[in-house]
Amino acid sequence: MLEKVLIANRGEIALRILRACRELDIPTVAVHSTADSSLKHVRLADEAVCIGPALSTQSYLQAHAILSAAEVTGADGIHPGYGFLSENADFAEQVERSGFKFIGPRSETIRLMGDKVSAKHQMRKSGVPTVPGSDGALPDDPDEILRIARDIGYPVIVKAAAGGGGRGMRVVHNEEVLLSSIEVTQSEAAAAFGSPVVYMEKFLQRPRHVEIQVLADGQGNAVHLGDRDCSLQRRHQKIIEEAPAPGIPDDVREEVGAACVQACIDIGYTGAGTFEFLYEDGRFFFIEMNTRVQVEHPVTEMITGVDIVKEQLLIAGGQPLSIKQSDIKFNGHAIECRINAEDPRTFMPSPGTIKTFHAPGGHGVRVDSHIYSGYAVPPHYDSLIGKLITHGDSRDIALKKMRQALDEFIVEGIRTNAALHRELVVDSSFVAGGVSIHYLESKLEHEH
Ligand code: ADP
Repeated sequence: MLEKVLIANRGEIALRILRACRELDIPTVAVHSTADSSLKHVRLADEAVCIGPALSTQSYLQAHAILSAAEVTGADGIHPGYGFLSENADFAEQVERSGFKFIGPRSETIRLMGDKVSAKHQMRKSGVPTVPGSDGALPDDPDEILRIARDIGYPVIVKAAAGGGGRGMRVVHNEEVLLSSIEVTQSEAAAAFGSPVVYMEKFLQRPRHVEIQVLADGQGNAVHLGDRDCSLQRRHQKIIEEAPAPGIPDDVREEVGAACVQACIDIGYTGAGTFEFLYEDGRFFFIEMNTRVQVEHPVTEMITGVDIVKEQLLIAGGQPLSIKQSDIKFNGHAIECRINAEDPRTFMPSPGTIKTFHAPGGHGVRVDSHIYSGYAVPPHYDSLIGKLITHGDSRDIALKKMRQALDEFIVEGIRTNAALHRELVVDSSFVAGGVSIHYLESKLEHEH
């Protein structure tokens, strides 16, 4: 078992990790910036170390500050959470080389999956369905490129192999602008990600975002925990997620889940991970793998009863997976609303002091949040201040519970997007289930 865990993150996920450590009797070290000394988990942790100024580039992204904090506190495991250094292969490698346990996959796995060309290649080898496209990086020969695009069929999307965060992509609708678009994407990719390598795939017009959660112990055992639908997005940021994804036939779901499990075994995956897919016309198409815990992991926990963060800690401690695929039973439906400190209309961040906070509650209601009355949301970081999760026997019940939870949720002193959520959970298309990734943006465009 791990003996002491350093939590290299902040906010709700840091608190989530602390809670899992407590359950496993693992002492915790919180690291924080000067702007974050009043974070809830910092107060609750066994030890706390200030690692730098407010700017995350000078604190949460400073590998050496985090490693020094681990060294002086005698931590043996480092949990990176999500965002920040969680998918940074160089950081994971430094953690490993310094003799600590990185709570996540091996650095070489992060590197393999972080490059979209190598990730896609590996997925094809393991039988995971991918978006039809170029076989790896695009060649130099223009005629060859034109031929590949014709084979795929327009529209196509040109994507940077090293891209991320929804950047480094360009949709091309016809042959006339293909080569110039590729050139622009290549030079943008070189500037933004340090690599000009691009590839091409079919541009799917109205897909849903459906992803598969996995757990693997790196000792030959892997399971999937079913799927999540995260199609309600704005600027590639997920707003509402749910599990299971509505309306997916069981055989299709089982087939893609089994392929993901096989891929985990093939690459010796260790820890929790997510295979992200676009889903269109009854088919799954892999787009990327997230080699870390995700914001939306609670919806899967609610329908499976598996504590994903606890499993991450157990796996990193060297324990073989205690659950088999046949042990995993899917029970009911769960929905998560991401609560951001932002204006519900303009989406402008709204940092400041929370004067009053009333948390919702009741059967099947979960609040993952670090906020409290008197807490000041700093302006320096992501605006996520918490997640409301509801679970019910059916999607309808989970939705009803969410409507009630949103009515009970009161934050005063700052603006939040709760009002947007209240609109979305009664939106007829969302209530029907299965909207595409473009639904929210087009709704916002028409109504506001
Ligand atoms: P990133 O790492 O930047 O998030 P992804 O490969 O996950 O990049 O793609 C981000 C988003 O871009 C997807 O969620 C989807 O909205 C869109 N996208 C990516 N590939 C395609 C495609 N082939 N067809 C349609 N949309 C796509």
